[in-house]
Amino acid sequence: MKDKTILITAAGQGMGRASAIACANLGAKVIATDINTDALATLSAQHPAITTDYLDVRDGQAIIDIAARVGPLDGLFNCAGMVHNGTILEVSDEDWALSIDVNITSMMRMCRAFLPGMIERAKTTGSVPILNMASMASSIKGFPSRAVYGTTKAAVIGLTKSIAADFVAQGIRCNALCPGTVDTPSLRGRINSAPDPVQAEKNFIARQPMGRLATVDDLTPMITYLLSDASSYVTGQAFLVDGGVTI
Ligand code: NAD
Repeated sequence: MKDKTILITAAGQGMGRASAIACANLGAKVIATDINTDALATLSAQHPAITTDYLDVRDGQAIIDIAARVGPLDGLFNCAGMVHNGTILEVSDEDWALSIDVNITSMMRMCRAFLPGMIERAKTTGSVPILNMASMASSIKGFPSRAVYGTTKAAVIGLTKSIAADFVAQGIRCNALCPGTVDTPSLRGRINSAPDPVQAEKNFIARQPMGRLATVDDLTPMITYLLSDASSYVTGQAFLVDGGVTI
């Protein structure tokens, strides 16, 4: 990963932030993006190899602009995503459209904007990886009250395989990551906003056969592998790091 330029979305906190630090520790030049500028400021202060840029992944023009501004990448990690809680009887058309926009349309736009530069870069480096954040809650497994989320994360796997198939001969590798339940600020938010937070945390842990939530450090080895040359013969796959949920 040394001296490779890797852009990460939603890098202010959670797995995106941990990935930015892990990639920088391996020698990459990381462009960490998010809408939370305070979180970005603390991140760039933490590591000299991390530069930051405001990017709202729902803003199609901003995606085109940042692709033009930063130029060809050696790696792209589309990490941004949100969780809708509920069945299809509990989702409005507006909330459905919001999740589709944040979780999948933004990812397509990111790939579309950066692919031409990455294809050029692959001509000299051999292969360039894209990593898309999916989930075990997707086409892999259904979970209660994750109808919208599971639908969008299944679409992430479909998009990933399509990009992998379309651009494999041009040196683009595209894989998806499917984590189990990871202890991140947004998961804490979901736990704390439940009617009974203590029980909510127990319920999240209960669905993990290993008896604990994942930490971001459980995920970063797979993330850095898929964003590095170590995975140079790997493409079009969805990688579960789920603590045994889907055994
Ligand atoms: P998180 O949800 O705690 O943080 C998300 C980050 O996204 C925040 O820094 C926020 O500012 C940023 N963000 C929100 N809207 C944005 C936008 N429009 N543009 C750019 N950035 C935006 O982090 P997390 O829990 O690590 O989740 C990251 C990804 O991992 C998501 O795609 C999520 O669906 C997926 N995921 C999470 C879990 C889990 O248990 N935490 C499990 C599987 C998959």
